Amino acid sequence: MIHLSSIPVENNAYRDDWKTLLTQSRMTTSELLKILHLENHPLASERAEQLFELRVPQPYLDKIEKGNPNDPLLLQVLPQKKEHLHVSGFTENPLNEDQYSPIKGLIHKYKNRVLLMSSSTCAINCRYCFRRSFPYQEHQQSKAQWQEALNYIRNSPQINEVILSGGDPLIQNNDYIFWLLKQVDAIEHIKRVRIHSRLATSLPQRIDQGFLKGIEGIHKDLILVTHCNHANELGPDIEKIAQQLTQRGVTLLNQSVLLRSVNDNAQTLTELSETLFKYGILPYYLFLLDPVAGAAHFEVPLKEAKQIYQQLLSNLPGYLTPKLSVEIPGNASKTPIGLY
Ligand SMILES: *Cc1c(COP(=O)(O)O)cnc(C)c1O
Ligand code: SF4
Repeated sequence: MIHLSSIPVENNAYRDDWKTLLTQSRMTTSELLKILHLENHPLASERAEQLFELRVPQPYLDKIEKGNPNDPLLLQVLPQKKEHLHVSGFTENPLNEDQYSPIKGLIHKYKNRVLLMSSSTCAINCRYCFRRSFPYQEHQQSKAQWQEALNYIRNSPQINEVILSGGDPLIQNNDYIFWLLKQVDAIEHIKRVRIHSRLATSLPQRIDQGFLKGIEGIHKDLILVTHCNHANELGPDIEKIAQQLTQRGVTLLNQSVLLRSVNDNAQTLTELSETLFKYGILPYYLFLLDPVAGAAHFEVPLKEAKQIYQQLLSNLPGYLTPKLSVEIPGNASKTPIGLY
């Protein structure tokens, strides 16, 4: 197999080939471990793939250290034996979002921002994902189906921000995304449009020429929230796309999840913030894990989370410290974790 990511990012053939990379991101646990020279990984479970398919895009895979069973990027994607454990408090649908969905594809939980579920799949499957147990198939709403959601936004003047989420919205092609963004862009009371994407950093080739051109046609303020949990996820390839987006006026923010054995110490989180800033991305949220079935081994207990956060605060200026928060169903916003 050609090692695609060894080709420089400037090479257009590579840049336009994100769909091929996307297809190649599906693999089995044994294939993954073979590439990483970790055939006998003590935590791995081929069977856990049945709970949630394994997907790792090549650019992310390239950032995993070969031969290191504890690599923090590997642990985010590796199907593990512990996923089969039933742990009390960890459920299939911890956020119970259905009750906030007045219209298919739209979630209106917070007063002035709505979330559009513009895709149901991702390029990378994170084992801690709160959507890992969702029974959804690959599904794309048609333009006609979106009209109802768009009308809801048009008729709700209190909504001033629309968020594209998923799954990962960037798994859709440019025509589809920009059709939807143009519709939103035309609604007068919308001030900002936000895209939440882990694909932007795990498969940066996705930010192709067509995408960059597309965003130049959007008039509202545009925000991209990346989802990185560790500084090793960032590299020159990400720096390049961050630069191209910033040059076009896109505000870049990052949200992370506090994860056992991945980033559960102040040193790792400090490096993440420092690296993000170098790339022009500001830390936004640091979330406690959502209690989804199969992900309990990622949990960092609240007391320890607060201790880590206290140290983080002492390491970083305020503007590089993400807000430690948790999502509590029923609350009017994400809930900050206080230290006072
Ligand atoms: C997290 C979330 C938002 C965005 O919250 P912010 O605090 O504005 O980042 C909006 N809608 C839903 C349904 C969410 O889960
Ligand atoms: S990219 Fe986000 S939505 Fe997709 S699997 Fe990972 S955490 Fe879940």
